[in-house]
This record gives sequence, C-alpha cells and structure tokens, in this order.
Amino acid sequence: LFITVEGGEGAGKTTVLDRIEAKLLEEGLDVVRTREPGGIKIAEQIRNVILDVTHTEMDSRTEALLYAAARRQHLVEKVLPAIDAGQIVLCDRFIDSSLAYQGYARQIGFDEVKAINEFAIEGYLPDLTLFFDVDPKVGLTRIDLDQSREINRLDQEKLDFHQRVRDGYQKVMNVYPNRIKRINANLSIDEVFTQAMKEIKRYVDV
Ligand code: C5P
Ligand code: MG
Repeated sequence: LFITVEGGEGAGKTTVLDRIEAKLLEEGLDVVRTREPGGIKIAEQIRNVILDVTHTEMDSRTEALLYAAARRQHLVEKVLPAIDAGQIVLCDRFIDSSLAYQGYARQIGFDEVKAINEFAIEGYLPDLTLFFDVDPKVGLTRIDLDQSREINRLDQEKLDFHQRVRDGYQKVMNVYPNRIKRINANLSIDEVFTQAMKEIKRYVDV
C-alpha cells in the first residue's frame, strides 16, 4: 500500500504523518515512513541542491528535472521494494507536488511537468493521496511560529506563489479525482489527523 500526503507550506503534513505513523505502528502494522525530495542518500543530496538558499539562479526546468530525478531514485530504491515486501509506505509529497509547484505555480506547464514525471515513475502512482488543503495565510503563519523548521530557498516566495500552489493542487485533484482526497487543513492538527485516519481506514483495518 502506497499512501502520499500533499499540500502547501504549513499544511501540517509532517506533523500529521508523525501521528499517522505512530497509530499504524501501534496497530502492529509494518510501516515505512519517507519523504520527497529525499528519503535515500542520492535523493537527499539532490534535495540539498534544490533547496540551497544560495542557488537563486536555478532555472525552473532544472528544478523540475531535479525533483523528477530524486523521485525516480527514491521510487526504485525505496518505495517499490517496500511495497513488494508488503509494507505500508507513507510518503511526504510525490508527483502532485511537482504538478502543483513546478507545473502550475512556476508556470512551466502542467502537461510538460506531467510528461517528465511520467517518465520518472513509469505508472507507479499512490493508492491514496491525502491533500491537506490549507489557506496559505494560515499555513505561512504556522511556519513563522515553527522555530525548528529549516529555512530553504522557497521561503523567498511571496503569498501569490503559495496561492498558485493551492490552485495547482485543485487542478491536480480534477485530473486524479479518485486517488486524491481533500482534507480541510485549516482545522486543528487533531481534526486533520481524524479526517486523515478516516480515509486511511478504507484501505487498512485499524
Ligand atoms: O515538504 P517540505 O516542506 O520538506 O519541502 C521542502 C520545500 O520544497 C518546501 O518549501 C516546498 O515548497 C518545496 N517544494 C517545491 N516543489 C516540490 C516539492 C517541494 O517547491 N515539488
Ligand atoms: Mg513538512
């Protein structure tokens, strides 16, 4: 089983994934928790290149290709072997992030970004994707309050970029209506967790 979590900045993906992971482990399930870009050495190195605050000259298509490359390596090296072994993979971000951020918010074009990602993933899509839909103003306020969060290159983006990311995710939902479930992430972490578990319960017996 392959489950991904998506959403803009400060949507609570990482925090709620911690809770979901703990709950599934408590139920005795075999869980692999991972993230994109990253999750394995090569992809974490690509992540550092993408998010380096000094890389202000990075071209949008270069960025999109690096995300797709990190995704490819992470998929073949970690996600697919785990699925084959019968484990539940919980992944923070996947292809929908690229469609919303690079395709839509960076305005490369949805279909262009979809094409390079289809090359990278060869049809392996998640069984379930939880889209944590947060008002960018709410999300950015949460991030400002979070002292533990590392600063990255994307933090230079303005509110209108984050609005476009949100619109991009809406577009992604229209393309994959069955796979992606929208969760109201403006609510408290407890309520977001409850909504998320309701969707997961359709796939796992907990
Ligand atoms: O998921 P996480 O918050 O760790 O992502 C790190 C940064 O990478 C975020 O600022 C996010 O906006 C950015 N990102 C992006 N395009 C993607 C995936 C992540 O701009 N496809
Ligand atoms: Mg996070």
